[in-house]
Amino acid sequence: MKSDVTGATVPFYDYCALGRRRGRELLDAIESVLRRGAFIMQDEVGEFERALAARLGMSEVVGVGNCTDGLELILRAIGVGFGDEVILPAHTFVATAGAVVAVGATPRFAEVGAAHDIDPLNIEHVGSKFTRAVIPVSLNGRCAELDAVTDLAARRGWVVVEDAAQAIGATLYGRPAGSWGVAGALSFYPAKTLGAIGDAGAIVTNDSSLAARLRMMRDHGRTETGDVEMWGRNSRLDNLQAAVLGVQLQHYDADVARRREIFRRYVDALDGITSIRLPALDVAGRFDVAQNFEIEADERDKLRAALAERGIGTALPWGGKAVTDFRGLGIIDATPHTSALMGTLLLLPLHQYLENSDVEAVIDAVKEVRGS
Ligand SMILES: *Cc1c(COP(=O)(O)O)cnc(C)c1O
Repeated sequence: MKSDVTGATVPFYDYCALGRRRGRELLDAIESVLRRGAFIMQDEVGEFERALAARLGMSEVVGVGNCTDGLELILRAIGVGFGDEVILPAHTFVATAGAVVAVGATPRFAEVGAAHDIDPLNIEHVGSKFTRAVIPVSLNGRCAELDAVTDLAARRGWVVVEDAAQAIGATLYGRPAGSWGVAGALSFYPAKTLGAIGDAGAIVTNDSSLAARLRMMRDHGRTETGDVEMWGRNSRLDNLQAAVLGVQLQHYDADVARRREIFRRYVDALDGITSIRLPALDVAGRFDVAQNFEIEADERDKLRAALAERGIGTALPWGGKAVTDFRGLGIIDATPHTSALMGTLLLLPLHQYLENSDVEAVIDAVKEVRGS
């Protein structure tokens, strides 16, 4: 077998790579936080918020505990709650739906289209007189059809809230994910394109009064003077994570460029293999940040096993299921197209720490298994 010759093993993701690449720089930032005892809501949070806002070209970034909390806080801040329905795609992390349930509303599931994001035509069918909001999810580092979704929502009087967890800095017609709706939530989960060293997230918006409300809501409804103006909760961005993210943000453009380079190499090398269908980069006015390389494969499980035998790690998005297929959640919507699609999807390794030799090992293994 080829792996016996090259000895290649490429895990799907390598959580130790960050420490090897940037350990010194990160430890300096952490040491500074420790020395100053600057743990909660200290300078690093505001500094990171301002730096990210500038990078994205948005007026407001509100750091929160994680992206799931961010979605929940946005929905709560705009008054979505009991009796309301919120439409979202069936191909997403369960977190998107969990945030809807957390505010007491009902998630309603739409099918995804050819590019694996929410199908604007299907949204129309799922809409009802109870619909209040729609959450397009910009998956895999690529903006969803945010123009069509926001047009449709405007016609129907629905609010758009964006799940931009996987699309930090991705743009459509020059406008970033998170800027199309009333607000968007980003994730800094370690394996996301802009990764912390634990849980962290942010809300982005161009609405300064909404941002002011969210800043209070993430901190028990408190103002900067400590007066309590509304009910809130605790979902502050940890200052230590903000310090780490400040370092990570300085490398972000280079990291995204490297991810895009690997994405292009996969497309060049694997194009033409008829039993798999590849994603595309930068389609129709987009700039993608290459969070994932998600392919459709005939006999997906066989391909996955053959790659594993050759030392190549892959992953099934969300464990291989649409949200509507998790039986324990009591969801009554069915999304047969998306459920069938999930049985074909496979993620190849794609992150900024891959060496060229890793990328070539993945390509060689896929070609060996599926022909050229
Ligand atoms: C990662 C992710 C989330 C959740 O992010 P957390 O920061 O872990 O809460 C939500 N939606 C999508 C699409 C994600 O990929």
